[in-house]
Amino acid sequence: MCSRCFTKTFEKRVAKTIAKHNMLKYDDRIAVAVSGGKDSLTLLRVLTKIEAKFPKSSMVAITVDEGISIYRDEAIKNAEDFISRMNGIEHIKISFKELFGFTLDDVVKDGIVDRAGIKPCTVCGILRRRALDIMARRVGATVITTAHTLDDVVQTYLMNVFRGDVDKQPFGIRTEIEGLVPRVAPFKLTPEDEVVMYAYLHGIPFQSHVCPYARTSMRNIIRNFLTEYEENHPGTLYTALTSFERLIKPSNILIQKCKVCGVPTSRKICRTCEILKHLGVEEIPVQ
Ligand code: SF4
Ligand code: ZN
Repeated sequence: MCSRCFTKTFEKRVAKTIAKHNMLKYDDRIAVAVSGGKDSLTLLRVLTKIEAKFPKSSMVAITVDEGISIYRDEAIKNAEDFISRMNGIEHIKISFKELFGFTLDDVVKDGIVDRAGIKPCTVCGILRRRALDIMARRVGATVITTAHTLDDVVQTYLMNVFRGDVDKQPFGIRTEIEGLVPRVAPFKLTPEDEVVMYAYLHGIPFQSHVCPYARTSMRNIIRNFLTEYEENHPGTLYTALTSFERLIKPSNILIQKCKVCGVPTSRKICRTCEILKHLGVEEIPVQ
């Protein structure tokens, strides 16, 4: 495929994914989670093109700064530069420090994360989710879009299986739950290597630094395994996605209000409250 045909095919697949799963509505205020990595900047570019066809919709980019020096600083700079070149996209930023009172580096370096027996990526992922939800509500967003690719989604499903946790909602599908901004993943049927190609062809910046905590994560092990498996058996990721989604029984999930913060959750106490308690934080931000 030439660059033009590849771009067209790529964007068409994303638009089809959105339509097939009713991810977006014509009048949505769309919050795009922009970490500053190539995946999120690619998502922002593609969604801007799709959204232009819907005059009643609007978009806002949200960046969460977890406080990972060098790595996140570079990503935020990339996001700022990229967004400043896109006409009129609103860009808002929030940091863990502002919301929770610490940076991820702080709690790792102080040994708090280690003593609590949790991984930096668990703290990062769960608190980032809460931060995004808070910011999306603050800006009146009706939906959050994330740049999770096919590879990310299959990794997540496999991690859930290893944790004995298959009764979840299908990943990145719009589910309206009162008190939470729905999240969708328009790249869930797009392989990571195609996002890389799209980013490369359209001058989207790549980060030169990797997250210092990535190697400690379970996701990293699973990612390496799946990448190698997909290389040797092309098509495995699609098959795995379909198989996992057949196993999911969302009707079994009981959504209740977290006993501490009141945010909807499938547990008695939500993961954010659990993590913040481990880290000694008393005040739980909800909005
Ligand atoms: Fe956060 Fe882990 Fe990703 Fe680093 S690798 S940004 S710590 S989730
Ligand atoms: Zn809670």
